[in-house]
Amino acid sequence: MIYLCAISNIRSGACREDCKFCTQSVKWGADIKRFKEKSIETIVNEAKLAKKNKAFGFCLVTSGKGLDDKTLEYVSRAAKAVLKEVDIKIIACNGTASKEALKELKKAGVSIYNHNLETSKEFYPNICSTHSWDERFETCENVKSVGLRLCSGGIFGLGESEKDRESLLKSLKKLNPVGIPLNFFIENEKLPIKATHNKQMALKIIKLFRENFKSSIIMIAGGREIVFGKDFTQGLKFGANAIVIGDYLTTKGEKVDKDIEILKKEGFKVANEC
Ligand code: SF4
Repeated sequence: MIYLCAISNIRSGACREDCKFCTQSVKWGADIKRFKEKSIETIVNEAKLAKKNKAFGFCLVTSGKGLDDKTLEYVSRAAKAVLKEVDIKIIACNGTASKEALKELKKAGVSIYNHNLETSKEFYPNICSTHSWDERFETCENVKSVGLRLCSGGIFGLGESEKDRESLLKSLKKLNPVGIPLNFFIENEKLPIKATHNKQMALKIIKLFRENFKSSIIMIAGGREIVFGKDFTQGLKFGANAIVIGDYLTTKGEKVDKDIEILKKEGFKVANEC
């Protein structure tokens, strides 16, 4: 069974953090669409489309360091509006979050919180200087402690070593997330790093994560087209069992119909819920 997940970037750009892999940081001046708030009507329509496309989950993503009061109010309002009209799991991805804020999101109907550890604790200072890896880990612990389901994974091809990937894996083992997104860095001329991944490396990573997380959903997320081209089902054969459909945060994804057609042709069944 393959799980499909759709993401909606409901606040884009203007982040003051300096993550070297992210076009949403103001520091790098990348040419992306920037907006403060997507309208609730647009979000609900996107969720309806995601449901029509058989997505089990709809992820509300905001740029910025974390879940401050304003973001919390907006995401809660969006989650409630979607749930009123669409039967879909709401995932929230809003950065660093306190237990109190996460409890509020849960009350608004959010089921899953996504906060990626991104890479190893050791390598993290090479890709971000404005916040710490420990802070990320703490948010993940907060998610679990308030009874939300945790989705946490990483991004690869930033120049990290195999040892770093193993270290990330060990840290994720402590958290045992229900979902693990594996992102592959998408280069942008304004970003200060170049991608160091390739298809073989991506397949090895997927295999490694599947071997270590037998019952988690392993999702091929951002960068799928870059490492696999149209051949993403190879990643599924190596153990991933979920993909992100539609567009990513700031880059275009594949047409959903095409993805579903490929899945069917290769004999994969799409799950309705998780
Ligand atoms: S905190 Fe999030 S939105 Fe901001 S630069 Fe880092 S990854 Fe991008």
